[in-house]
Amino acid sequence: MTTIAVENPATGAVIGTVPDLTADDVAAAARRARDAQSAWADLGYDGRAVVLRRMQRWIVRHTDEVIATICSETGKAYEDALLAEVSYGAAAFGFWARQAPRYLADVRVRSAQPLVAGKRLVHRYRPMGLVGVIGPWNYPLTNSFGDCIPALAAGNAVLLKPSEITPLTSLLLAEGLRECGLPDGVFEVVTGRGATGAALVDEVDMVMFTGSTSTGRLVAARAAERLIPASLELGGKDPMIVLADADLERASTHAAYYSMLNCGQTCISIERCYVEAPVYDRFVELVTAKVAALRQGVPAGPGSVDVGSLTFPPQVDVVDRHVSEALAAGARALVGGQRPERRGHWYPPTVLVDVDHDMAIMREETFGPTLPIMKVPDADEAVRLANDSDYGLCASVFGGDLERAEQVARRIDAGAVAVNDAVVNYTALELPMGGAKPASGVGRRHGREGITKYCRQQSLLISRWHLRHDVHTYPYRPGRSRLLARVLAVLNRGRRTA
Ligand code: NAD
Repeated sequence: MTTIAVENPATGAVIGTVPDLTADDVAAAARRARDAQSAWADLGYDGRAVVLRRMQRWIVRHTDEVIATICSETGKAYEDALLAEVSYGAAAFGFWARQAPRYLADVRVRSAQPLVAGKRLVHRYRPMGLVGVIGPWNYPLTNSFGDCIPALAAGNAVLLKPSEITPLTSLLLAEGLRECGLPDGVFEVVTGRGATGAALVDEVDMVMFTGSTSTGRLVAARAAERLIPASLELGGKDPMIVLADADLERASTHAAYYSMLNCGQTCISIERCYVEAPVYDRFVELVTAKVAALRQGVPAGPGSVDVGSLTFPPQVDVVDRHVSEALAAGARALVGGQRPERRGHWYPPTVLVDVDHDMAIMREETFGPTLPIMKVPDADEAVRLANDSDYGLCASVFGGDLERAEQVARRIDAGAVAVNDAVVNYTALELPMGGAKPASGVGRRHGREGITKYCRQQSLLISRWHLRHDVHTYPYRPGRSRLLARVLAVLNRGRRTA
């Protein structure tokens, strides 16, 4: 069997190998999963919640081991793994165990239609069957494994294809699920490259994809061939707007943190910043000092570094291209801006000014530790530039007058907008999250849709009356039909059928 070597991107050392599974291997895993699914669904919400809650505690007990695995295959800082992965994952197990029965409970529907008067109408959710999850490398727990949790809570079997760059975290957590009593076959990690992901789409009843816009398009096309639903969480180029009355300390701290978090490899990173002219100089001065003070290096436990390495080797080339092209076109780097000669995959935290909207760094997803800042005359121009993008994932607005800041936030074409904050909205599992423009994805994770999308829907109509005929059924009779016509005309004139 061919294998894939997994590298620690911060050091360049090979830390493991995983199988590169073929389409036949994926088909065999899908058969095992389908065999196991109905018993898992039959356990009901309470039975499944027992396993999910055990896994929540398992993650807490194994925090150090999970963080070490995440850091070793991503190169990210300890705190990035603790806050944005381990704590998210543990919370998600508890959240979906608790919320699945609420979000998926039968809904009694009332109808104003006279033909269904007196009948019971119910809308309900059933598991899809076999869900396929395909994940990226930037958050191996949160973005790959995280989407499996609601799918399992809904009663599905799940096949996860993690990124070939970071498969070890998913394998470790699969081990945890087994220890917590998840029946064999219900969840399986199928490791491999893009071809394995494509084979997965051919086997499942629904696919949840997180990754780049270009791969998302391929996954959507393949899912469309089979007429299966696809939920897509794709790229972003999130704008931050700083209004003149903003608290500049808070705004600059958040700009530095949420542009450099996870070395900038977050789909909802702050990737570009627009600042109203009166506060531009002071804001730039504050951000520059905060970014210059960041300690970047190989993570070695709590508090050891602020920023780790990049995870995906080719990403360094993308970041380098965006920065060098911007510098060549007249931008200035106030911090960083040069690719270092160093073993592993590194780019320094970088702040750029004198940028404009013709530059790739303002238009394409950089996915690295960069913060380009532009001066704007007013909020209208900031909103215009924020919306001048194919992407629309998240955004943030900082301002002292909350009402005005919220009005600005409501004008941004993004799936989620934070006021005087950024990114942290992602941790609110009750709050739906997803793209507002196709390049950022289709569908939502979190909230009700974050689990109903893993279900088939069924509408039930239950007639309780033991009449031989309903008023509208055969045999048609002139008198009854005229009466019916008059009744329907009266009802349709009024508001009852609105
Ligand atoms: P990618 O698109 O290169 O790969 C994602 C996954 O798809 C990997 O597991 C890969 O093996 C698999 N894949 C590749 N070709 C495939 C094919 N033809 N069919 C099926 N699967 C295939 O993305 P990446 O580089 O791993 O991740 C970075 C991207 O993910 C960035 O664009 C980032 O913005 C995005 N992302 C989005 C979110 C979100 O919530 N919107 C979250 C995290 C990352």
